[in-house]
Amino acid sequence: MDGESRPSFVLAGAKPHYNPDRPGQVEHIFLDLNLDLQQQQCWGTCQIRLNPIVPGLAQLTLDAVNQQIKGVWINDQAQAYSYTGEQLEITLSHPPTPGQAITIKIDYHLDHPERGLYFVLPDEHYPQKPTQAWTQGEDEDSRFWFPCFDYPGQLATSEIRVRVPQPFMAISNGELRGVEDQGDHKIYHWYQPQVHPTYLMTLAVGEFTELQDSWQGKPVTYYVTPGREADGKRTMGKTPQMIEFFSQKYGYAYPYPKYAQVCVDDFIFGGMENTSTTLLTDRCLLDERAALDNRNSESLVAHELCHQWFGDLVVIKHWSHAWIKEGMASYSEIMWTEQEYGADEAAYYRLGEIRNYLHEDGSRYRRPIVTHVYREAIELYDRHLYEKGACVYHMIRAELGEELFWKAIQTFVQANAHKTVETIDLLRAIETSTGRNLLPLFDQYVFRGGHPEYKVAYKWDSKSKLAVLTVTQTQASKEGTSPLDRNLFDLSIPLGFGFVADSGEVTSQTLSVRIHEPEQSFYIPLSQKPQFISFDVGNHTLKTVTLEYPLPELKAQLKQDADPLSRINAAKALAKKGGLEAVIALAQGLETDPFWGVRVEIAKQLGTIKLDQALHGLALGLQDSDARVRRACVEAITSFKSTEAYQLIKTIAIHGDASYLVEAAALRGIGEIAAAKPGDKPKPKKVFKILETALEERSGWNEVVRAGVIGGLGALKELPEAVDLVLDYTQLGIPQPLHLAAIRTLGTLGKSQTPELLERILNRLQHLSTESFFLTQIATITALSQMDNPQALSLLRTMAEQCLDGRVKRAADEGVTKVQKAIGNGQALKTVQDDLTDLKRQNQKLLSRLEQLEAQTKANHDSDPRTPESENTPNDPP
Ligand SMILES: [Zn+2]
Repeated sequence: MDGESRPSFVLAGAKPHYNPDRPGQVEHIFLDLNLDLQQQQCWGTCQIRLNPIVPGLAQLTLDAVNQQIKGVWINDQAQAYSYTGEQLEITLSHPPTPGQAITIKIDYHLDHPERGLYFVLPDEHYPQKPTQAWTQGEDEDSRFWFPCFDYPGQLATSEIRVRVPQPFMAISNGELRGVEDQGDHKIYHWYQPQVHPTYLMTLAVGEFTELQDSWQGKPVTYYVTPGREADGKRTMGKTPQMIEFFSQKYGYAYPYPKYAQVCVDDFIFGGMENTSTTLLTDRCLLDERAALDNRNSESLVAHELCHQWFGDLVVIKHWSHAWIKEGMASYSEIMWTEQEYGADEAAYYRLGEIRNYLHEDGSRYRRPIVTHVYREAIELYDRHLYEKGACVYHMIRAELGEELFWKAIQTFVQANAHKTVETIDLLRAIETSTGRNLLPLFDQYVFRGGHPEYKVAYKWDSKSKLAVLTVTQTQASKEGTSPLDRNLFDLSIPLGFGFVADSGEVTSQTLSVRIHEPEQSFYIPLSQKPQFISFDVGNHTLKTVTLEYPLPELKAQLKQDADPLSRINAAKALAKKGGLEAVIALAQGLETDPFWGVRVEIAKQLGTIKLDQALHGLALGLQDSDARVRRACVEAITSFKSTEAYQLIKTIAIHGDASYLVEAAALRGIGEIAAAKPGDKPKPKKVFKILETALEERSGWNEVVRAGVIGGLGALKELPEAVDLVLDYTQLGIPQPLHLAAIRTLGTLGKSQTPELLERILNRLQHLSTESFFLTQIATITALSQMDNPQALSLLRTMAEQCLDGRVKRAADEGVTKVQKAIGNGQALKTVQDDLTDLKRQNQKLLSRLEQLEAQTKANHDSDPRTPESENTPNDPP
């Protein structure tokens, strides 16, 4: 997609965001709470010790959403206050003295909180569900469970004392000061001795087994629901080695009194790095079979642990700089992969991150990594922030070299421990420790969107013994005067020339060239003709590249280049050339490449060439010892959509594989093949029977296999019985991962569907769109966004307006754009609709503003005879 047609990151209603003014420094937060899990109630006091900065302070504004405020005291003196439902304004009876800390005490009550603090309970549909309560503060949701100055610029120590009914236990930040037994209740008292922001304060309550481990005498604990102990150890057991690894790499020993990981039910993220107490989704817990080819959970553990340094120890001052922590946490997944599994695995992991970013950039939007213009901060938590951020860290490493990179990172961590940072602080730490000014790199990759897209042509001039490379920056625009206007990148790129001796020994010669023009040719004298050419040796630069080399050079590169990413690029270029010779080279690579990641990519490429020899090569790949390669082969074979392809994967679909994922791919695959060949073998009805049986018999870890079956049924959308079966699985009571998979599949089923079946699908989606659970909402939006009819559009609009979660709102808005495009609405109509949406939003804002004012007037009458000086605070909408 080109720049003009790419949707904008900035949606209607977005505006610049800044931290508020700081009336004083928060020193300590103490929550003294009671929890009633069955009734979903929480009540108690919040005490904030604040050191005033401003002389003559008359008013304090705290964030507190949908709480019942019972009273406010300062240093035990009752204070007048007003409450808007979003903010608590305290009118101070005496102006405090700057430098002399005051204690603000707020008595409050939460009744069925809708965010911040979440209650999980069994119900008629899911009677086996555990009873739990857990919190999620990031980004601005702590204000839903306690009154606070809720932005990351304020760091304070904290303390949570909580009374919970037996037999539940409560886990929170820092060290356990004591547990008090009160008969049918227990009081847990946790104390966090190092400063941190409000969004990292946490509480997790439930029935857990505590698994104990340690690192250098500090407790390392894993909390799982009883019965999942082995899975817990299997999934989180490497934590002490990781703590050691990151302590070394970041040049700062793990700073907190303990490190706990709590696996909770229905978690709305993969994990959350609350200070010293990470919460993880229990979906990450691996059984033995899942551990075979699932590294995601290990990466998740590394990611959240890395945040204990990047995010918790060194805190971002404002969300716009969140890439500093999320980029590094994503990069820590690569670092840990390198440490544990080697350089090839790390490079391939990085390629996965690059592709995630490229996909978002190509299909969703392009934005600068650092921006403060958005509707809600949570919108920033995307592939630019995580994956592109990780790639930027990697480029800094490549630019500085191994030694200086770690010196710079360690300087940054040591200089900013227990402080807040912005992007400039990273640049300064690099400059202080290495003398290097990396602003040019940041300017190109952090402060503006995009990346270079290179096309590289090569030929050998045998007469003059010159290697001739022509490099084009295909992303550059023809208009504009400055390189920035023209979207040109100015980078130094290493070129490598590989020579293969008769003995088979490979040597190489490398030089760097500056690439800064739309098109440049390089004439490089060499003593002899190289066998292959590596553009961007090591592939450290975030880019795309299309190789236009002759066939022999590509074949030699696929076989001989030491860098797996270069071999993958060669495989791609070979597949693009097509033809029998390329297929033979690829099939050979699939059999012999030493690295599974390259074999996976070769399998994918073979799937793009519809020649019998490609299918035969893939058939051999089904015997690969690595499950990830077998899965790639099943998927590539599926794309042939032939009777022979069906025969190849049918056996796996019926008899299974050691890996859940391979089995799931085969079950999905037979559905897709049957759907593509209606008149041929296999008959869709026959495949439907196989899938129906599998759905009855193959439950198991996180429902991965049955989700594959649902995917296969999704392809058979012309069979009413397939549609009905998927609809059955969207009902409550179906295990959650399967329930969600079935909902998502309604999208495939509903696209270009007959009116009668479509009506059934839409009715179901309409019902699902009113569910309040985050994961159900996202699955419903995923389904609706794939459809092409006006009713899906209107359901998405309603969800965009009514759902509370910023991520849900954004997904629904983006879905609207997709469906509009699918329907083929005219631009004029879209504009009218957008205007209408804007008007509706403004109207809603005005209404809620009016309600606030009315409530405020009432509250003022109740508690405060004086009118507040100003109702405008920096957080108010204009
Ligand atoms: Zn993260």
